[in-house]
Amino acid sequence: MKVLISADIEGVAGVFHAEQTRAGNGEYEAARRWMTLEANAAIEGAFASGATEVWVNDSHGGFRNLLPDLLDPRAQVVLGKPRTLGMMAGVEYGAALVFMIGYHAKAQTRGILAHTINSFAFARVAFNGVELGEAGVYGALAEEYGARVALLSGDDVFAEETAPRFPGARFVVTKRATGNASGVTQSPASVREMLHAAARDVVRQHIDEGRAPQATRAEAQPVECELRVQTSALADLFCQWPTLTRVDGVTLRFDAASAEHAVRMLNCLSAMSFMLR
Ligand SMILES: [Zn+2]
Repeated sequence: MKVLISADIEGVAGVFHAEQTRAGNGEYEAARRWMTLEANAAIEGAFASGATEVWVNDSHGGFRNLLPDLLDPRAQVVLGKPRTLGMMAGVEYGAALVFMIGYHAKAQTRGILAHTINSFAFARVAFNGVELGEAGVYGALAEEYGARVALLSGDDVFAEETAPRFPGARFVVTKRATGNASGVTQSPASVREMLHAAARDVVRQHIDEGRAPQATRAEAQPVECELRVQTSALADLFCQWPTLTRVDGVTLRFDAASAEHAVRMLNCLSAMSFMLR
């Protein structure tokens, strides 16, 4: 029974400031270690209940944050970019369960370091009329591959906005947001304990319920994606892509054959946005 863990950094206990999420400084070096240890707690919990394979996908920035030599040696690590399925790369090899840890609230909410995929580019992302954060966007991709999102962690704003999207999933709240860069954190050690216990429980439950150890791919459903971008200059740039429709100054729309195609399109637009930085 295989688990794929997607690990981001903004929702990790102790992380409040953008500096802690950017390479090249001491605060980041501390934060990436906490991120790695939170991933490790989930890995160990999954193996403790009978997972036979655990992959961890480095899901932040350049996808090169996790410190592999601190990770449980039984886990395999998905690193580096660009890669086709982004924060969910690895799911195409058939994970039964997905964990999303260290995640954050969607753009323009009150969560700590809230954004959706690319804070410079996107103000709002909606699939088929429903506004989504990264957990919702990548959750749609995971489900298309037949995987179930079973465990998520991040701040209280993330948990509250994401819970309705994944009924039955377990949430670990790592900290309470009081602003974009402020709040009250649980200690990293207590969050690791909670993640270990939650991972252990959801894997055990999956096995006890006799659910399939391997995912079967679901039929892809079309996605109409509506996108609000941060500036009209970005909208001008993105609309060079012939399949995008301009709705207004900063709103765009495109149709995708599947969640996978929608995610890949968003990641292409995100890469294009670097032209205007
Ligand atoms: Zn991130």
